[in-house]
Amino acid sequence: MPGIFPTRARWSRSGPIASFFSAFLDPQICILCGNASRTALPLCVSCFEAKFLAEARNPRLTRCLHCGKPLISAVGRCVTCRDEADDSSPLDGIHSLFPYSPACQDLLTRWKIEGLRGLGVPLTELVAIALARLAEGEFGIVPVPPRPGKIRERGWDQMEDIARGLERRHGFYVLRPLTRCAGIQQKKLGRLGRLENLKGAIRCAATGPYPDTIFVIDDLVATGSTLAACAEALKAQGVGKVYGFTLFYD
Ligand SMILES: [Zn+2]
Ligand SMILES: [Zn+2]
Repeated sequence: MPGIFPTRARWSRSGPIASFFSAFLDPQICILCGNASRTALPLCVSCFEAKFLAEARNPRLTRCLHCGKPLISAVGRCVTCRDEADDSSPLDGIHSLFPYSPACQDLLTRWKIEGLRGLGVPLTELVAIALARLAEGEFGIVPVPPRPGKIRERGWDQMEDIARGLERRHGFYVLRPLTRCAGIQQKKLGRLGRLENLKGAIRCAATGPYPDTIFVIDDLVATGSTLAACAEALKAQGVGKVYGFTLFYD
């Protein structure tokens, strides 16, 4: 019966919710434990609860200002980032939930490269839970803007899926004032190259007023340079405090 049951690729183009349910037609193996996931996603409910929910419910507050890794005793930067010659960051902090383990790399690949958009649904839950615990008072959420042409080429952007979920399902205040100009893809560059490549590449529309506190959200933080460029653009528009928030840190 070709064409009667949708393929994953067709579902993935029709949105994250549809993709989530398509998993029931396409049995999946959990990336973390290797058992049948019993959901439409390569992630089972027990692993989601045990490995992810617990951390999202009690997000650690002390993170390296550069890479988002948990800090043991130091304040500001972790041991790896402490010696980096760098001026002070425009970020007021970075919160990041999970180490970028091989399983998490697999998860991110399935989600954003292979287009299993349904993974965005549980990931949005984690972001919503953690942000509700971390933030005090009123705040806005700004997704890191995709590179130019990405939505035209691929049809979607994973951070926009998260932003939309936060807005529609959780009632967060989401703003999209940032745009990214053409440049080399960040992941192809080293730390200094990334900083240079981002100079002036992220712009903020002057259409305030903006909330005084903003969380810039992204999937992964490595050097923190993208988050810092977003913070710089927002602060130039008068935003008081800008925090980075990511699911994973590398
Ligand atoms: Zn599992
Ligand atoms: Zn660090």
